[in-house]
Amino acid sequence: MSSPYECSVHTHSTLCDGKGTPEEMAAAAYAAGVKYYGFSGHSFSPNPIDFGYNLPPDTTEYRNKVLSLREEYAGRMEILLGIEWDSWTAGAPEGYDYWIGSVHALRDAGGGYYAVDASPEVFGECIGRVFGGDAYAMTDAYYKAVAEMAARKPDILGHIDLVTKYSEKHDFFDADAPRYRKAALDALHAIDPAATLLEINTGAMSRGWRTTPYPARFILEAWREMGGRVIITADTHHPDTILYAYDTAIAAARAAGFRACTILTAHGQEECPLPCI
Ligand SMILES: [Zn+2]
Ligand SMILES: [Zn+2]
Repeated sequence: MSSPYECSVHTHSTLCDGKGTPEEMAAAAYAAGVKYYGFSGHSFSPNPIDFGYNLPPDTTEYRNKVLSLREEYAGRMEILLGIEWDSWTAGAPEGYDYWIGSVHALRDAGGGYYAVDASPEVFGECIGRVFGGDAYAMTDAYYKAVAEMAARKPDILGHIDLVTKYSEKHDFFDADAPRYRKAALDALHAIDPAATLLEINTGAMSRGWRTTPYPARFILEAWREMGGRVIITADTHHPDTILYAYDTAIAAARAAGFRACTILTAHGQEECPLPCI
């Protein structure tokens, strides 16, 4: 019987914005007991702030590196070739074992990009310059983009409520407000539960922004009612955080009523029970 701790498939390396080389990340995963490790480098983004932090348009080097590590670990740990596909990347992901669909940035009428997860300063600028100071207009626009990504049926919908990254430390908007919740739930309802997994993502916890994983409990509960399945990920950018706060993510899933999660393996998806934490 597999366990959620054996799977980590939302991961970054120095080939995009991670701190560990692909070799270091794979070695750390293996040492942590992971059996199914997926690389999910950031797809090329036209946002200037992403230059040097995302994969180039030609992913040959990335693919070759992941595939050579797959050979190196054959028989010990399965390595999957994935990608985190940004909503602004042109085209569609092709030739990957799986893809994570994520919205990271919004644009203004002049073509400027504002990454919602870059910093509180950029987040505030986005609300002020693009949405005239109306934070709920911003969250509406963000979730509209999430719904459009969901319609593309990614294998995993990435950090659905990324706009709450700074909510614990800054007061940009009220995540309990009816308008905010409606936008989030409208996006959630755009996801096909038969096609897409929702991730419980601890990435903002390892970076000190949040004490709980994405997404909020009301989203998880609604997803369970939709018959949706969840996958636990660390969105790791460092060899030390391959399974960061998985216990907290498992507890969040159980609190929302889930008793199982899904993992990715080289032979497809597998359901596994969520341990009592
Ligand atoms: Zn992301
Ligand atoms: Zn990521």
